[in-house]
Amino acid sequence: MSKTKDSFSKVSRRDFIKYSVAAAAAAPFALSMNTAHAVDTTAHIIIVGAGAGGTSIANRLSTKLPKAKITIIDAREEHFYQPGWTLVASGLWNKNQTITTTKEWLPKGINWVQGMVAGYNPDSNQVSLANGDTLTYDFLIVASGLQLHYDGIAGMDANLIGQGHGIGSVYAGAAAAEGTSKEIEQWIKKGSGRGLFNLPTTALKCAGAPLKMTFTTLDRLEKSGQRDNFDVEFMTPTGRLFSVPFYHDFVAERFAQQGVVKNDLWTLTGIDHGAKKAYYDVDGVEQTKEYEFIHVVPPMTAGSAIGNSPLAFQPGENFAGWLKVDRETLQNPDYPNVFGIGDVMGMPINKTAASVKLQAAVLEHNFLAHLKGEPLTAKHNGYTSCPLITAIGKAMLVEFGWDGKFLPSFPFIDPKKESWAVWVMKEQMLLPAYYAMLHGKA
Ligand SMILES: Cc1cc2nc3c(=O)[nH]c(=O)nc-3n(C[C@H](O)[C@H](O)[C@H](O)COP(=O)(O)OP(=O)(O)OC[C@H]3O[C@@H](n4cnc5c(N)ncnc54)[C@H](O)[C@@H]3O)c2cc1C
Repeated sequence: MSKTKDSFSKVSRRDFIKYSVAAAAAAPFALSMNTAHAVDTTAHIIIVGAGAGGTSIANRLSTKLPKAKITIIDAREEHFYQPGWTLVASGLWNKNQTITTTKEWLPKGINWVQGMVAGYNPDSNQVSLANGDTLTYDFLIVASGLQLHYDGIAGMDANLIGQGHGIGSVYAGAAAAEGTSKEIEQWIKKGSGRGLFNLPTTALKCAGAPLKMTFTTLDRLEKSGQRDNFDVEFMTPTGRLFSVPFYHDFVAERFAQQGVVKNDLWTLTGIDHGAKKAYYDVDGVEQTKEYEFIHVVPPMTAGSAIGNSPLAFQPGENFAGWLKVDRETLQNPDYPNVFGIGDVMGMPINKTAASVKLQAAVLEHNFLAHLKGEPLTAKHNGYTSCPLITAIGKAMLVEFGWDGKFLPSFPFIDPKKESWAVWVMKEQMLLPAYYAMLHGKA
């Protein structure tokens, strides 16, 4: 199996530290935009979701709209730094490094409703909660992320992850990420067997995460000294490994070098956890694969509350079921008092925390402009970014916008090369940058 350490880009440690300090801790989170001064409004603004997007925009608006009433709705008491879960599932971080509380990030004076929105009625400017309550708004910001559908795979249940059945999934939460690492460890201890890594048919958040999990597992297999005893296969429903052709080709080539069998047009449809068998649809024909370890990536949607509402793209439209917004202004075209941020939005790319950072600046600008009756001049460029981990200690800074256009932030980092510098960014610098983003800063 090939070693790739000689392909590190030539960034010295000194240069990296010098530049990275100047670049304010991690490019993916580094955009500033001139925004308007405080606006004098007593409007009621509801934000649905207190994750990365909801918290970030809540902090920004609470500064700019001191007299407004801002309500944020989310039942979740824990805040998760989800980009850390690939590190947890690779055995490098403790899960607690990714867990804080929702409360500590919310601005003072905000009204936090601990519940879940079950329905949207934008014609009467209302949202209904799962407990039956109804809330009325003047303006609405939808930031409810996406929903995972493990039940879309027959026999699969998120509770099976990390329970000794050889099932892992980095997406299901901090404990599941930890359980995934344990399953990989058990597989390696067995000394042989097949590992299956999957992609879903739907859009997914951090589309690089399933690839990262494959690469860090390959690294762990190599380090066991018995790599040749293990079979590693990667299954793709579409044949695409990544939306940007350069990264698709890079990963396909690296898989070939590292002995990963790539199975195109294989969709995971079922799992028999007792027999350790996975079932696939391959062009209408069912195929079965036995495994010692399987990394499951569930189908993902915006959730039924949005999907069944007039706020979503409708059946027959691109992105049906996802929140409808203009991809540049982030405003709903049918209900101009409704905006969106984050994974919930129907967009071809953009489901990363780094995208949220850029979206928050655009949304703040346009939201304030809308309040003042001015044109929405800020335009989101589709910025999507994640450090694509290619081995433990190596990563490539993937940054692109609409139509796969490269949008590199650092002049000294080649977006087409792996480096230790980008690994350090992923491992040490993105967490504080993410928390600054939650506070609406940077
Ligand atoms: C394994 C993994 C690795 C990742 N790696 C990276 C990375 O390296 N770099 C990167 O930039 N991004 C990464 N991401 C993606 C990033 O975490 C997300 O894109 C980001 O969190 C999206 O923010 P959001 O606010 O849209 O959703 P979230 O942060 O998921 O927050 C959504 C919130 O909405 C709430 N909610 C949901 N439904 C409702 C409802 N009906 N009513 C009220 N509240 C509701 C939820 O409880 C949640 O708190 C990764 C994600 C995962 C899972």
